[in-house]
Amino acid sequence: VTAEFLAIGEARRGALSRASREAAGLARRLADAAGGGRVTGLLLGRDLESATAAFARAGLDRLWTVSGERYASFHSALFAQTISGLFADGVPDVTLLGSTFAGRDLAGRLAARWGAGIATDVVDVKAAQDGWTVTRPVFSGRATQELAFAGRPVIFAVRAGAFPTGPDAATPAPIEARPPPELGSLPPLGTVGAFESSGSAQGPDLAEAAIVVSGGRGLKGPENFRLLEELAGSLGAAVGASRAVTDAGWKPQSFQIGQTGRSVSPQLYIAIGISGAIQHLTGMISSRTIVAINSDPSAPIFKVADYGIAGDLFQIVPALTAQIRRTRGQG
Ligand SMILES: Cc1cc2nc3c(=O)[nH]c(=O)nc-3n(C[C@H](O)[C@H](O)[C@H](O)COP(=O)(O)OP(=O)(O)OC[C@H]3O[C@@H](n4cnc5c(N)ncnc54)[C@H](O)[C@@H]3O)c2cc1C
Repeated sequence: VTAEFLAIGEARRGALSRASREAAGLARRLADAAGGGRVTGLLLGRDLESATAAFARAGLDRLWTVSGERYASFHSALFAQTISGLFADGVPDVTLLGSTFAGRDLAGRLAARWGAGIATDVVDVKAAQDGWTVTRPVFSGRATQELAFAGRPVIFAVRAGAFPTGPDAATPAPIEARPPPELGSLPPLGTVGAFESSGSAQGPDLAEAAIVVSGGRGLKGPENFRLLEELAGSLGAAVGASRAVTDAGWKPQSFQIGQTGRSVSPQLYIAIGISGAIQHLTGMISSRTIVAINSDPSAPIFKVADYGIAGDLFQIVPALTAQIRRTRGQG
C-alpha cells in the first residue's frame, strides 16, 4: 500500500511560510524513503496565488487549495473541519505541518478528529519498524525526547528551521482548487481585522530569518540597539533580544527569544551582551552556529557558543559591521 503524506502549508499575508516548505521537504524525503508514498500539499486561505506557486515546487505530488473570504484569517475550528471534510474518504497516513501557533492548534484538533498520534515541536523524524520515531526537545530544551509511533495516522508539527526546505522543483506539482466541503455547525468565528507590526518592521521575520543578531542587557540602553541594527542590516539578519531587554522596555516583547518568548533555529545566531541564562538558551539552542560576544569570559553563553569573542561589544560590534560591509562591498 502506498503511504499517503499530507503537508499542510501556511500562508501569511499571501506568502508561504518557511515551515511549510520544510514540512513539504520532509514529507517528500519520508515518502521517497518509504518506497514511493504520495505527497499531497494543502493550502487554505485567501489570495493564495504566490503561496500556491511556491508550495507547488516544494516537493509535492499534487497541491490542493481551498480559498475564499472565510479562510482569510486562521480559525482552527473552521480549518480543522474543512481539512477533515476534504479527507472524509481516507485520512492521510502522515500529516506534517509547521509547529507554529496556528500549526500546533490545528494539529491538536485534527488529531482529536482523526484519532491520530501527535507530536509537536518535532526536530527529527525517522522511519521505524512499523511506524515512526520522532525527536523533540523537552524541559525547556534541557533534554530531548524520542517518541515511538506505531500504526497510523500520525500528525507531526515540525519546528521551523529544523529541516531543510523542499527541493524547489523545476516543474510544479499539479494544482487543484477544491471547493470547500459542507461544514457542520461551527463555534462563532472571530475575524482578524488588521495586522499591525509590533516590531521594527525592518529586515526579515525573526522566526524565519537565516541569521539572527540578538542583544542583551550588556547593551546598556535602548539607544545602543542601533549598533545591532547596523550589524543586522549588513548581514540581512533579524534582530532579537533577551528578556532583560524586553522587560526593561528597550524592545517590544515580540523581540524576546527564550522560554517565555519565541524559539528560533537560524543558521547563525549572534548573541551580543547576553549572559546565556537557561531560559534564553531554550529559545535558540537549536541554531546551527552560535556566536557569542561578551566581556565576561566565564559567561555561560560561551559554553554553548561555537565561536566566542570575549571583549567589549561597543568596540567589537562596530568593527565587525565595518568589516562585513567591506567584505560584502557595501561601502
Ligand atoms: C520563568 C522565567 C522565564 C524567563 N524567560 C526568559 C526568556 O524567554 N528569554 C530570556 O532571554 N530570558 C528569560 N528569563 C530571564 C533569564 O533568566 C535572564 O535573566 C535573562 O536572559 C538575562 O538577560 P541578559 O543575558 O540580557 O542579561 P544579563 O544576564 O544581565 O547579562 C548581560 C551580559 O552582558 C555582558 N556585558 C555587559 N557589558 C558588556 C559589554 N560592554 N560588552 C560585552 N558584553 C557585556 C555581561 O557580561 C553579561 O553576561 C526568564 C526567567 C524566568 C525566571
